Amino acid sequence: MGRGTSGVIHRMTGQIAPSTVNNGVFAAVPRLPDPQMGPRPLDIAVIGAGAIGASTALWLARAGHRVTLIDRLGPGEGTSFGNAGAIATYALHPVATVDTLRKVPRMLMDPESPLSIRWRHLPRLAGWLARFLWASRPARVHEIEAVLAILMGLAEPAWAELAREADTLHRVMRRGVLYVHGSEAAHRADAARVAATRAAGIPAELIPPEALRQMEPNLNAGGHGAMLYPEAAHLLDPRGAVQAFAAAAVARGAVLLRQDVSAVSQLPDGRVHLVHDGGDATFDKVVVAAGAWSRRLLGPGAPPLDAERGYHLMFEGAEELLRRPVCWSPVGFYMTPMSAGLRVAGTVELADLDSPPTQRRLDMLERHARALLPGLGRPTSTWLGFRPSMPDSLPVIGAMPGSPGIVHAYGHGHVGLTLGPITGHLVASLIGGGEAAMDLAPLAPTRF
Ligand SMILES: Cc1cc2nc3c(=O)[nH]c(=O)nc-3n(C[C@H](O)[C@H](O)[C@H](O)COP(=O)(O)OP(=O)(O)OC[C@H]3O[C@@H](n4cnc5c(N)ncnc54)[C@H](O)[C@@H]3O)c2cc1C
Repeated sequence: MGRGTSGVIHRMTGQIAPSTVNNGVFAAVPRLPDPQMGPRPLDIAVIGAGAIGASTALWLARAGHRVTLIDRLGPGEGTSFGNAGAIATYALHPVATVDTLRKVPRMLMDPESPLSIRWRHLPRLAGWLARFLWASRPARVHEIEAVLAILMGLAEPAWAELAREADTLHRVMRRGVLYVHGSEAAHRADAARVAATRAAGIPAELIPPEALRQMEPNLNAGGHGAMLYPEAAHLLDPRGAVQAFAAAAVARGAVLLRQDVSAVSQLPDGRVHLVHDGGDATFDKVVVAAGAWSRRLLGPGAPPLDAERGYHLMFEGAEELLRRPVCWSPVGFYMTPMSAGLRVAGTVELADLDSPPTQRRLDMLERHARALLPGLGRPTSTWLGFRPSMPDSLPVIGAMPGSPGIVHAYGHGHVGLTLGPITGHLVASLIGGGEAAMDLAPLAPTRF
């Protein structure tokens, strides 16, 4: 779909019918028609109030359903709290590729690399890693990229609708995102990526060293230049945005419950039974949007979801050091100016959901960030989060045969903040029975 156009998007042809919306930062983004309610309003529980669950609750409430949004913490307190804040519609490639596999052995040996693994978790991770390997064959990568391109093309229109409804446009900034290079070779190599990204309809530019110095004068990155996604947007407060979505759902009649859900089961009459700390209840539909914890809830037979652990450090008062999110390509972490300070976020650690944080990963991020921004003080807080990741880098949206009332909505890996609103839109379309904005078959939980 073309960018910089106003209008209504039609199903996957990307054709745009004229219509303008005054969306501030999203002013030039095409409109996405609302999902239909279906024949009657339904009682629907959404488990998990992260970017995915809160967005889903808002679309469902907007369509006219009776929604109960349940989270054991509170809206936006899970992984959606601590991410790097990028609305990364430029992220058109899966993690599993031949290129990634080529780099893995070296990365695992290098304590400073973006990837680490806790070896004692290897037996449990083996199945996921085998599927990751299988997903990296070139023909499959090509298919995945085609699906990601569709999802990413719909992501901003969905963000625009929900941000406007939830009165949270002020938390969105459009200043582009920089991928800063660590060598001249990397800078030269990204010329091809710029061309491919532009061909996919996403503006991208190579930024020579001198221009980079002018754009980000506080950055001490060695003078090799960068790649810029000039139209990329980011959030000044990801948790605040998710909380605003949840509040907007409540304003439309949704009920917010703070409970830990321990079981979900399909009943023979088509309804779904749910057990939580405070009791139990039955719903017409239940959406499982519990992020990296979804598999625990669904039990054996669930799609192969695992966690890619990531970290952040906050530097309160340091947000002025950068004008826009900067990704340091050699180590793969972001430094994002947010309203609460500068956030240094990223890296991938393969371990489980219960192991404590690895201080070495945090120290590594801090060391690199301080080398890149010599004006940086000490971190004011640190965080460990859990990307809910599928081996093929595509989210799961849909139901399993035998449990049509349980809708799966998780597995967004590195781009769940970006894809939260469009996921909610697709789930609401699925539940309402209308035509979804894209073909959902490639996202089905049965694909594994
Ligand atoms: C370091 C890092 C940087 C990232 N940067 C970006 C980025 O720049 N852009 C981007 O698009 N994405 C980014 N991501 C990915 C993104 O944050 C995630 O994909 C996204 O937050 C997942 O959202 P979610 O709603 O599925 O999960 P979560 O936000 O984790 O929400 C799941 C919710 O379910 C609740 N829950 C779980 N189990 C239960 C239960 N049994 N009962 C009740 N409640 C339950 C949890 O409390 C939680 O609130 C990043 C991730 C990390 C770790």
